[in-house]
Amino acid sequence: MLQPDPGPARGFPDLDRPELARGLAYVGGAWVAGARRASLSVTDPATGATLGEVARLDAADACAALEAAHGAWGAWAAMLPQDRGAILRRWFEAMREHREDLARIMTAEQGKPISEARGEIDYAASFLEFYAEEARRPNIEGITSHLPDAEVELWREPVGVAALITPWNFPSAMLTRKAGAALAAGCTVLAHPASQTPYSALALAELGERAGLPAGVFNVVTGDAPEIVGAWMQDSRVRAVSFTGSTRVGRLLYARGADTIKRLVLELGGHAPFLVFEDADMDRAVAEAVKAKFATSGQDCLGANRFLVARAVHDGFCARFAEAAAALRVGAGADDPDIGPLIDEAAVRKQEEHVRDALDRGARLLCGGARHRAGPLFYQPTVLADVPWDARIMHEETFGPVAAIAAFDTEAEAVARANDTEYGLVAYLHTQDPRRIYRASRAMRFGMVAVNRTKVTGAPIPFGGMKQSGLGREGSRLGLEAFTEVKYVCRDWA
Ligand code: NAP
Repeated sequence: MLQPDPGPARGFPDLDRPELARGLAYVGGAWVAGARRASLSVTDPATGATLGEVARLDAADACAALEAAHGAWGAWAAMLPQDRGAILRRWFEAMREHREDLARIMTAEQGKPISEARGEIDYAASFLEFYAEEARRPNIEGITSHLPDAEVELWREPVGVAALITPWNFPSAMLTRKAGAALAAGCTVLAHPASQTPYSALALAELGERAGLPAGVFNVVTGDAPEIVGAWMQDSRVRAVSFTGSTRVGRLLYARGADTIKRLVLELGGHAPFLVFEDADMDRAVAEAVKAKFATSGQDCLGANRFLVARAVHDGFCARFAEAAAALRVGAGADDPDIGPLIDEAAVRKQEEHVRDALDRGARLLCGGARHRAGPLFYQPTVLADVPWDARIMHEETFGPVAAIAAFDTEAEAVARANDTEYGLVAYLHTQDPRRIYRASRAMRFGMVAVNRTKVTGAPIPFGGMKQSGLGREGSRLGLEAFTEVKYVCRDWA
């Protein structure tokens, strides 16, 4: 399986350390091309240019990676937690040291503006830092005994091999959020990155190796997901699966995990409502609305899709929001615009379909509404007002720079509409009334509620959704739960 390394990918000419753009998968501590020696092309969505070829592993290679991860598990789980934590800490430091190269790799393959890519590298690294510290927190709890002469304890033990499947929109942070927790808990990792953005994960593998991750502890297996992940789902040695991506694939994995009773964390789609009440600070509401809609070019599970605005302030909000949206700069991520390209043609078509559908049903176009001249995968920041509730955009994730606004008359109506979705990841509220903040936050069926601000994520908070936005939480101490199981021990000392 070992093949000669073809060297750094050609499409990343600006890297200080070109060796970070590796085109081979990382398995058992070696860089491998896979038995078939097949490859997949990775392109820059801003230009369509090929960045390089990455190894396309198959089901047999995925099983070899599983052997490696399983073989490495015992020693990794037995390592002193402070030693595991020290490796995670060195990995965090390596990410900081190579921040600019990691950001450039991400912008090239994902398309996001370089400032956002730098922000994601900092965010991604923060999970390694956080879990480096969590690794050494006590994982044994004494319980006051309910039995005479008995001593009872609860131990948290690592589950074994964890499969981590990550999406293209946050190619570094989704991997470190999972891997930091899994490795700190004492699990070994099989990672499958999205095929559009494998270089970011491979660069992290290179830095992890330098940080001292032992062979087999962290593996990055690139290639066709159904084949690779399919092999892992069938094998009972994979004890935990942590997936971030679409609700469609999440459902599939949930069903497949049943045969071997795997633990699952599912971070799935979102369809965030953004509520603006008549007493909101309007400057702030408009500024935060722009962030909530257009960050990551709208390709964010936390992206606001539905803006519900009190009728009394509706027209003013629409005018100011559309003016701010129309002023956003669109261009290639390397030029650091506000909005970069979308990931592929299907993503652009979805914007077109949602806009067409809303206009056909009577919505008003306030700005945008078409592809952008910057290139085939660019779409103009778009704002639609008076969007009827039966429009697709009010019920489906748009995943792009299109905002839909509707007016509401009462708080009860706004909350009911916000909750009228199968998703439940995040909801945004803008109001200055403390009683309304309490009432509405309580009534929201969302895993996260952001009040008068947009950025709420970070390593110490539990990230995750309700309903069909997923299962389980990532980040925070709760992020360790999927990767550990509880053992209850009762000792008689009479
Ligand atoms: P996706 O198509 O579900 O892909 C996500 C990952 O699953 C990729 O690694 C993909 O690999 C793999 N995959 C695809 N088909 C599979 C299959 N049949 N079996 C096993 N794995 C499979 O999602 P996406 O389009 O990349 O990401 C966008 C979605 O992610 C949105 O819905 C967004 O809301 C959600 N998201 C959620 C969060 C959160 O934390 N809740 C965060 C970010 C994104 P390939 O690329 O090789 O197909």
